[in-house]
Amino acid sequence: MELLKEKILHDGIVKKGNVLKVDSFLNHCIDVKLYEEIGKEFKRLYNDCEVTKILTIEASGIGIACVTAQFFNYAPVVFAKKSKTSNIGDDFYTSEVASFTHGNTNNIIVSKSYINRNDKVLIIDDFLANGAALEGLIDIINQAGATVVGAGIVIEKGFQPGGKLLREKGVRIESLAVIKSMNDETGEIVFAN
Ligand code: 5GP
Repeated sequence: MELLKEKILHDGIVKKGNVLKVDSFLNHCIDVKLYEEIGKEFKRLYNDCEVTKILTIEASGIGIACVTAQFFNYAPVVFAKKSKTSNIGDDFYTSEVASFTHGNTNNIIVSKSYINRNDKVLIIDDFLANGAALEGLIDIINQAGATVVGAGIVIEKGFQPGGKLLREKGVRIESLAVIKSMNDETGEIVFAN
């Protein structure tokens, strides 16, 4: 997606530890028009699928998923929580996810009320790196007995193993920008797509 790649080149900041900071349009200050274009692109890519739910993970995925949902007939958006809050009840699916950016492990949880075996679930997330977040979300969909339609990823860091690993397992992954390499000293970002 050219508009997204231009934004990344113009405003993305390459940090140490293979982290790309895109706070100025994706993760902190939100470019709503860009989110809309991202949503339309996911719709174009998954147009053939009858999506009944969109699943993401807090926090950064929520906004992208909600804007995307508008193009999927306002399919409900469910987001995995990273900590057990008092109001979720006892009946939930859970999966362990190592956080790439924070270096800790979260038990992500989704109430059993919101995904069921008849659902066709599209996963949406901002980044794909090692694939832990995606694997956790797929695990939850499998626990519910629902169908994974695929994943819509805004930025895939193609030099990290998640995309390859999950595609080899048969998961459909559509990434709007795939980064082939990035350099925290020069700031250079090279795309694979
Ligand atoms: P994974 O689980 O695939 O290793 O990492 C994906 C998750 O980590 C995403 O949900 C995203 O929030 C975060 N993440 C991974 N890499 C980056 C990055 O380079 N920049 C930012 N801002 N977030 C990242």
